[in-house]
Amino acid sequence: MIRIRNLRKSFGRLAVLQGIDLDVARGEVVALIGPSGSGKSTLLRCVNLLERPTSGSIVVDGQEITAPGFDVNRLRQRVGMVFQHFNLFPHMTVLKNVALAPVLTGRLPAREAEERALELLDRVGLKAKASAYPNSLSGGQKQRVAIARALAMNPEVMLFDEPTSALDPEMVKEVLEVMKALALEGMTMMVVTHEMGFAREVCDRVLFMDGGQIVEQGEPQKVFSQPEHPRTVAFLKAVL
Ligand code: ADP
Ligand code: MG
Repeated sequence: MIRIRNLRKSFGRLAVLQGIDLDVARGEVVALIGPSGSGKSTLLRCVNLLERPTSGSIVVDGQEITAPGFDVNRLRQRVGMVFQHFNLFPHMTVLKNVALAPVLTGRLPAREAEERALELLDRVGLKAKASAYPNSLSGGQKQRVAIARALAMNPEVMLFDEPTSALDPEMVKEVLEVMKALALEGMTMMVVTHEMGFAREVCDRVLFMDGGQIVEQGEPQKVFSQPEHPRTVAFLKAVL
């Protein structure tokens, strides 16, 4: 579903991604872990072209998104992204927030988009909040709305960048549950997370990044219990 070859990204003289090679299979759920500043967010942002790679190639479902002239909007319809901060529109109801993108992009007429939005809100356990405004929701509820909003475009890939890092501890679980359900339904997912329990239980593979490179990867069981690279060992010692 995703094929990344020799991906490099620099900001000025700062080489943030230093040759990433990565394949993610359809339906695979990959956890990205690593210290702050190692390039995890930049890697995700390159996959939906929020950042333009400096060099290298990224193919999503057979289409080279890094080819000159590739239509970014078409890509964004297929790759949904959820951020640490939810970025919901405060002046719109929850329902409108979720229904907006399919309407704006001409994918669905308003009525159908709202029906679909209601289904998605039901899926994340928030149907009852359809006519509420984001400010009246808890952080965990806002993040679940943000997930529903990303799903409204029927993406084939979902990218999550520390989706629970801004949440109070008691709200982390409800968001992880939604993500787990999505994983079990077969969504292809790349998840930057500090939730090692989630990585271990839900993800098919864990990638450890440091200094703009994938230093080590493997099945969660393996990486967590027998890390091979000294930097992985040091990182896990600090966080586990
Ligand atoms: P992570 O998500 O692993 O913490 P990031 O991908 O956010 O790491 O950042 C990696 C490095 O790139 C950091 O040193 C960060 O300061 C730098 N960086 C990220 N985005 C930009 C940007 N838009 N301009 C300049 N430097 C950036
Ligand atoms: Mg980050």
